[in-house]
Amino acid sequence: MNYFQYQNQALYCEEASVEQIAREVGTPLYLYSHRTLRQHFRVFSEAFAEVPHIICFAVKSCSNTAILRIFAREGGGVDLVSGGELYRALKAGVDPSKMVYSGVGKREDEIDLALRAGILMFNVESFQELETIDARAGVLGLRAGIGLRVNPDVDPGTHAHISTGLKENKFGINVEGSLLAYRHAAKLKNVDIKGVSCHIGSQVTKMAPFIDALGRLKELIRRLREEGIAIHYLDLGGGLGITYNQETPPHPSEYARAIIDASGEMDCTFIFEPGRVIVGNAGILVTRVLYTKENEGKRFAIVDAGMNDLVRPGMYGSFHQIQPVIQRGQEEITMDVVGPICESGDFLAKGRRMPAVERGELLAVMSAGAYGFSMSSNYNSRPRIPEILARDDRWYVIRKRENCEDLVRGEEIPDFLNT
Ligand SMILES: *Cc1c(COP(=O)(O)O)cnc(C)c1O
Repeated sequence: MNYFQYQNQALYCEEASVEQIAREVGTPLYLYSHRTLRQHFRVFSEAFAEVPHIICFAVKSCSNTAILRIFAREGGGVDLVSGGELYRALKAGVDPSKMVYSGVGKREDEIDLALRAGILMFNVESFQELETIDARAGVLGLRAGIGLRVNPDVDPGTHAHISTGLKENKFGINVEGSLLAYRHAAKLKNVDIKGVSCHIGSQVTKMAPFIDALGRLKELIRRLREEGIAIHYLDLGGGLGITYNQETPPHPSEYARAIIDASGEMDCTFIFEPGRVIVGNAGILVTRVLYTKENEGKRFAIVDAGMNDLVRPGMYGSFHQIQPVIQRGQEEITMDVVGPICESGDFLAKGRRMPAVERGELLAVMSAGAYGFSMSSNYNSRPRIPEILARDDRWYVIRKRENCEDLVRGEEIPDFLNT
């Protein structure tokens, strides 16, 4: 369910005309629907209404502070993976007592920032990290809430680059190792054991991997409690998939039902770290066709958005629906939709059946709200594009387009090159 709809053959985001926004701010641009973002957050949170829970939005999927503010106002927390994300979340007004910090490579300065902010817990991914967090908390005279990120060794059945819960992945600590690590943590002076966490991967479209992971964590919690180690939070990570094309992921309510039923009496507060399922279908990328051409019978639409703006097709071979912003009833043809960047991996769609396009026309790349802008770069010295938030019939620039000065900010030519 989202609020991108056609009215009289013209695409609208809520009641705002996409064509008009593109005319006023230029292309390419990211466009999010406020109503959709809020709705997705509420649907997810309400699905777990019958159990104590915190929804910690995965900042990396869509990091704009205005968007983080929307979820903060809905009572949400965040899942962080860097000091930069912590900075953003604080700026957005997220309550630190609803922040969890994941990631295999937390630096000491980042750990310090999180300790000072007073986050709920670190999802610790190694023995050495556990020792480091204890040591830093000691130096600062603060307490560190921790959970271990357990690698449950389940196959999420997703793309290899976004699968994280298999034993060969770099993430977390295996079940046996985590038992040892918890026993060790229980002896550390500056650490409070709060929970157990896992995150098995992204764009997961089946329930079974989540339930398998839950089963393994339940068993671990039982063993920990037997040893007198109290566990108050069970963090099941994110990863619920969305429909980009033909996928049929469980609806958040089915996901919640299955998890609540499988968990039984846990006596824990659940934490979830959804990213994609909240923002994925709440944002689009709007791009203009620069040229069309035909090479050896193959047709191309060259658009002004490149892989630096949306890297998912080039990086993971991901599918994004591409639609004309103004429907003109053109016959369908097969083409590649490619960007201006000097890489063959710079495409938004390959061999796609879609209505024929012409120079100057606007296209909407759908389901681009997650891992879209947040993964964008300046490659080819392209200024990063604006982010727009539509609400009802109005829209707001929540990140302005970068310019050439932004591109060279911080660069310096050393003196010896000036003489
Ligand atoms: C990326 C990530 C998430 C969010 O994953 P989605 O598939 O976007 O829901 C949650 N938790 C952790 C630890 C992550 O690395």
